[in-house]
Amino acid sequence: MKAVQYREIGRGPEVVEIDVPEPGPGQIRLKVTAAGLCHSDWFVMDLPAEQYSYGLPLTLGHEGAGVVDKLGDGVTGIEMGGAYAVYGPWGCGQCRACSEGRENYCTRAAELGIAPPGLGAPGAMAEYVIIDDARHLVPLGELDPVQTVSLTDAGLTPYHAIRAAQPKLFPGATAVVIGAGGLGHVGIQILRAISAVTVIAVDQSEEKLALAEEVGAHHALLSGPETADRIRELTGGLGAEAVFDFVGVQPTLDTARAAVAVDGFISIVGIGGGLLPTGFFSTPFGVSVRAPYWGSRSELREVLDLARAGAITVHTEVYGIDDAATAYEKLHSGTVRGRAVIVP
Ligand code: NAD
Ligand code: ZN
Ligand code: ZN
Repeated sequence: MKAVQYREIGRGPEVVEIDVPEPGPGQIRLKVTAAGLCHSDWFVMDLPAEQYSYGLPLTLGHEGAGVVDKLGDGVTGIEMGGAYAVYGPWGCGQCRACSEGRENYCTRAAELGIAPPGLGAPGAMAEYVIIDDARHLVPLGELDPVQTVSLTDAGLTPYHAIRAAQPKLFPGATAVVIGAGGLGHVGIQILRAISAVTVIAVDQSEEKLALAEEVGAHHALLSGPETADRIRELTGGLGAEAVFDFVGVQPTLDTARAAVAVDGFISIVGIGGGLLPTGFFSTPFGVSVRAPYWGSRSELREVLDLARAGAITVHTEVYGIDDAATAYEKLHSGTVRGRAVIVP
């Protein structure tokens, strides 16, 4: 089968021919219907050899959807031919966090060598993918896999970040979304769908800001040193009750800190490596700062239900598997509008 793999440090993704994998006991093989590209894939592929820990070759793709085409021994409750989305942050299934469905915060995954597909385990950017357990599949029903697949990360991650901020998202409040890319453009829609806040989008690209307004942002600001002042102007000097930073570099975190309201909430979702000094003299009184990771199993169901309700739509650019390298280049250069999706 064809697969998109990262095979050598510094060389970028390649389309290769590998064997079709066989599901072991308890595992499920999906024939992949769609796989999404995430900027985190570039984080991984940009790591120097001494920091790289995902194994080589690595089949990419941590946003996956497919139809069941083979069941390993002992798998029950999963329908052959059924269409599913893949819950990616695999955990042990047993620890306290996992027992609540919050496998993204599994306390034993590292120790047990459990890694998400595409981020250690073979990912979904291939004709077939092995899913380790039936609990990591969520039925798609009538949802179109190509339009939906990115909700498994670009939807789930902002949803999880936003849910944690919900007490701050009261009517009349303002939420800032920094980075209106794959995650950000869905985040804006989630904010509009589950709250009555005013949404201010911030990005360095005019095209992304146009998309942000198209999907529901009330205001769109080019990022720069004056962005926080503009946010304060738009909020009558108060600042924003919630700031979601989907970039996470030092300049955007500085903006977040300068733009947040007293008793507000900052969520650092982007893994740009910046730091946000938090303390009595560095953030306004009462501000909480969180760096969330992905989302829970029940939250993925809720995100898919938001899509079913017509409340959120991923703007997708669709590519064949042979064009995966081109799609990754576009993602790297910041010119993907919404999310790029591979259809094998
Ligand atoms: P993306 O490339 O689709 O979008 C990034 C957006 O940020 C683009 O619109 C870009 O124009 C904008 N941007 C970049 N630098 C900027 C700056 N200095 N100021 C303003 N805007 C800027 O990326 P994505 O796939 O949406 O991922 C966003 C971030 O979230 C990445 O860092 C990714 O690794 C991270 N991520 C984190 C989690 C998590 O669990 N915490 C999950 C998925 C992705
Ligand atoms: Zn991701
Ligand atoms: Zn666990």
